Amino acid sequence: MSIVNGLPASFSPESYDAIVVGAGYAGAVCARRLAEACGSKVAVIERRNHIAGNAHDCYDEAGVLIHSYGPHIYHTTNDRVHEFLSRFTEWTDYQHKVLANIHGTLMPVPFNHTSLKLAFGEEKGEHLYQKLVAAFGENKRVPIMELRAKNDPELSEVADYVYENVFLYYTMKQWGKTPDQIDPSITGRVPVFVGDDDRYFPGAPHQGMPAEGYTRMFERLLDHDLINVFLGVDVRDIMEVRSDMVYVCDRPYGGEVVYTGQLDELFGLDLGALPYRTLRMEFETLPQDSFQPVATVNYTTTEDFTRITEFKLMTGQVLPGVTTIMREYSAAYEPESGQTPYYAILEDESQALYRRYRERVDGILNFHCVGRLAEYRYYDMDGVVASALELSDELISSNR
Ligand code: FAD
Ligand code: UDP
Repeated sequence: MSIVNGLPASFSPESYDAIVVGAGYAGAVCARRLAEACGSKVAVIERRNHIAGNAHDCYDEAGVLIHSYGPHIYHTTNDRVHEFLSRFTEWTDYQHKVLANIHGTLMPVPFNHTSLKLAFGEEKGEHLYQKLVAAFGENKRVPIMELRAKNDPELSEVADYVYENVFLYYTMKQWGKTPDQIDPSITGRVPVFVGDDDRYFPGAPHQGMPAEGYTRMFERLLDHDLINVFLGVDVRDIMEVRSDMVYVCDRPYGGEVVYTGQLDELFGLDLGALPYRTLRMEFETLPQDSFQPVATVNYTTTEDFTRITEFKLMTGQVLPGVTTIMREYSAAYEPESGQTPYYAILEDESQALYRRYRERVDGILNFHCVGRLAEYRYYDMDGVVASALELSDELISSNR
């Protein structure tokens, strides 16, 4: 493998069997598999000055390992994804826990048995818990919108409390809309949990953090003789889609192209911009061992930021006397402004626009879209890896 900055004058697309756009999960997994299984020579073009996409981590000036684009916690139920990534890293046994700061009281999220007792008092909380168990069973995940639909005064009391104190203000900050106005699958990611498990991802058998960090895992993933990575290169400077053909450096390109960026950008937003939310992240280093009791505290009833993450509590790094925290502020994304498009806004209109862009490339046999941006999906890391494994399966079987 080589990783270089910029594209050398000698760069010749024809000398590569495949061009992968983006060095995040989607691109790195496809590059590795094409190199390994097909013996393909792969150029990975990345416009940032680093690999690992939004999962990138690095040490800050105080020596704290931080996540550059927000807290990333690995969790999956997918054995194939886990086996594949485990070739490139060991995992810590970190189990993510989140507390919601509800008017000053810290309660577990997903809202669970403990949260009920903190919110309603020991006796009433227990009574309401037994009602939830009777209605849904124990150790069940109940999306807030499903709970709200129940026609029972006591269950409605729980639903109203959770809706008002956990979801409403946080969702307004994160999406600029109320929970009723967004796709229920989004709030469904953090259901009420009828049980005592206080982990954020109670159902995931594989969870933890890469033992030496995400960037180190990506270095190993991309470490193959047939993979060359070019950083700081915006592929739009060398690649264009014209009718049913991909051009690279102004010449038709016959190799495989795996594209993991935004589709609207590739076409100069000519059908309109796909809507996203972006984040402003405020990092702060403090001269103390620790700042908060768990790695992430969600501010669900107060403050302008959504959550505070303390990285050392997630990574397990031991570094006395200093800690780094990060506050996340969500905002509307402005296209072509240099902002990062962190979250696709999944609404009928935006999906329809996405499909119009997608139709333009679906007929091009050697052009493939994969990943959170290129598929315009709200994927977690494991979802992207699963999608990239599927795409690379197809490419491998057609290139053998
Ligand atoms: P990306 O990581 O975005 O990679 C795409 C790459 O393509 C980028 O590096 C980009 O620079 C490059 N690119 C784009 N356009 C061009 C171009 N024109 N030319 C060259 N290069 C280009 N998932 C979890 O599982 N657990 C978590 O805890 C978690 N937390 C998250 C927190 C936040 C704040 C966010 C935003 C996401 C989180 N995720 C989490 C999701 C996770 O980040 C993504 O699923 C995953 O990183 C997406 O990988 P990707 O390869 O599809 O995209
Ligand atoms: N959510 C909320 N309050 C919380 C946690 C989550 O309202 O304390 C809602 C909010 O709409 C958020 C969504 O659930 O965008 C998904 O939360 P998750 O933590 O999965 O978001 P991510 O980590 O992807 O930003």
